[in-house]
Amino acid sequence: MRDLTQRLRAAIREVPDFPIPGILFKDISPLFLDPQLIRDSAAVLSQHWKEKNVTKVIGIDSRGFLFGPQMAIALDAGFVMVRKKGKLPPETVEVTYELEYGNATIESVKEAIQPGDRIVVHDDLLATGGTAGAAAKLAASLGAEVIGFSFLVHLSFLDGYEKLQAISPDIHCLLDFAD
Ligand code: AMP
Repeated sequence: MRDLTQRLRAAIREVPDFPIPGILFKDISPLFLDPQLIRDSAAVLSQHWKEKNVTKVIGIDSRGFLFGPQMAIALDAGFVMVRKKGKLPPETVEVTYELEYGNATIESVKEAIQPGDRIVVHDDLLATGGTAGAAAKLAASLGAEVIGFSFLVHLSFLDGYEKLQAISPDIHCLLDFAD
């Protein structure tokens, strides 16, 4: 496997001022034009959690749905969708969390997460950690144990990593961007 970090960095497109001025958006879509890169990324994302008795992978709406199910298959675990409010049928549980401006609500189907589940929360990118932290809170409210977090990309100039460490110290990221 030729240096995966380099190949991922080359595949991720940086788009200035999207979706709002001042944000340098990391577009992961070109990665999905390269089947070998999809395969290799899924393998390394999954490998980190082998032998850790994961029972469910949570994927966050919507880019967490790209690798989340592939990780679940590799780990012989279930996959749980955590979605923006209003997309899932009842009965759901929800968590509201703060954004830079205003707030957001995410939810999952209640019966998808059970007491005793050992959960990895996966998303494409870790920025402030607000979204992944809220998904972890949702899982914990249903009696599950969050054993860690998984991301393709980490924006290390923000403090999301530190925020999530207070929930679980096991945070696996394939690629760091320092700016
Ligand atoms: P946060 O809750 O601040 O960690 O934000 C994480 C969510 O916002 C992820 O689902 C990302 O898809 C998205 N996101 C935040 N910042 C960026 C960025 N610079 N480029 C691409 N996606 C981003």
